[in-house]
Amino acid sequence: MAITRTNSRRSARHGEMDLQVLLIEDQRSLAQMAAKMLYERWGCRVLIATSLAQVRAIIDEGKHQFFVAVSDLNLPDASHGEVVDVLIAAKLKVIAITGMYDESMHDKIMSRGVVDYVLKDSINAYEYVVELVGRLFRNLHVKVLVVDDSQTFCGLISGMLQIQGLNVLTASNGAEALAQLAQQPDIKLVLVDHEMPVMDGFTFLSNVRRKHARDRLAVIGMSGAANSRMSAQFLKLGANDFICKPFSYEELVCRVTQNLEMQESIESVRYIAYHDYLTGLYNRRAFFEQGVKLFEETAGAGRTLAAAVMDIDFFKKINDFYGHDGGDVVLKHFARLLDEYFNAQLVGRVGGEEFFLLFPDADKAAGQCEAFRERVAHSAVKFNDAVIVFTISIGITRLASGSLDDMLKIADANLYAAKESGRNRIVLT
Ligand code: GH3
Ligand code: MG
Ligand code: MG
Ligand code: MG
Repeated sequence: MAITRTNSRRSARHGEMDLQVLLIEDQRSLAQMAAKMLYERWGCRVLIATSLAQVRAIIDEGKHQFFVAVSDLNLPDASHGEVVDVLIAAKLKVIAITGMYDESMHDKIMSRGVVDYVLKDSINAYEYVVELVGRLFRNLHVKVLVVDDSQTFCGLISGMLQIQGLNVLTASNGAEALAQLAQQPDIKLVLVDHEMPVMDGFTFLSNVRRKHARDRLAVIGMSGAANSRMSAQFLKLGANDFICKPFSYEELVCRVTQNLEMQESIESVRYIAYHDYLTGLYNRRAFFEQGVKLFEETAGAGRTLAAAVMDIDFFKKINDFYGHDGGDVVLKHFARLLDEYFNAQLVGRVGGEEFFLLFPDADKAAGQCEAFRERVAHSAVKFNDAVIVFTISIGITRLASGSLDDMLKIADANLYAAKESGRNRIVLT
């Protein structure tokens, strides 16, 4: 398991949306409801326009930068979707909403390069739009790799994916794609053709799966061959999905979105499984999985680690005096200090107010711990009208015989000695 350090800093919720939405809707109550939903769900600011004239004025003014425009197609001064041309000309992403489904209108509007064409048949329509806005927002941080030997086709798909706000990279064969993946490990999804020179899609996929599991890197196979065995073969080799060429923009987007959402939900389960809910630090499981690896790597390289066990002094009294909520605020504050201070170390919350640390650079451990102990003793936490001050005791060891467990037992015995000899101090062996 590889958990990155950045994960421990990231909240499980999606980031706040700092980009503005232009909402064009002439039914004011509907507009206000949608604006409220967008704000409550994503925290995004919304500017409402109720006519084409207003839209033109807002765009001409050039004062705002919009992340996306959500637009009704039937406005008092433009009843046939004319607003779309104005928005597209201003290089805006457009989600079109209409009260009436009409196939020729659908085709006409989609051909302009809008993100989606949504039927306003119930309140659900705006719920769908709000989710879609969130998807577009998340897509800004998602990299997708398109692998096809036809440049025209690569260009076509890239254009479609860019409408969705995705960051698109391209490769013209499997070997190039493997090189791109090695250089850019944050690629989340690959769309790969079968027949290509140098390295075909199947060979590429077999290579990919040796390194990247299906739940971390999604691969969608593509092929134009009217051969039903093609899709099965892609799936058996480890593809997450398959799509037959030629496909429509909407089919491509549905498959890409479904696969990204699957990855994201697995990632959030993984986050929950390896992080402490209160502080966002690694939990016991994550600490030990990473710790054993680190211990073995360092032992293998003939170096020694240092381990520290930290414990808040008289924490029970803090709980008794300020209540459990006050205790929680102290724990969160302490965790933030730990996370900031011990950047290069492995840090975990392994018990209530007990924290374990591993130092790859053993020589620095004692000095850093001592400075940190002092910093904690001088920091203060605001809680309601009170200011809470607290101290910590630390047990450290750099003896590397035996296992990680043995090492932590020694550090824990040192912690006990620090408590016995008066607290707010470190004991080292
Ligand atoms: P010492 O200086 O010897 O470490 O004394 P202490 O009071 O800090 O240690 P003790 O182990 O007696 O008490 C720890 C307390 O931490 C008891 C437990 O209720 C509390 N605790 C454990 N987890 C949490 C938590 O998530 N939130 C809060 N508020 N309290 C917690
Ligand atoms: Mg081909
Ligand atoms: Mg304690
Ligand atoms: Mg304790």
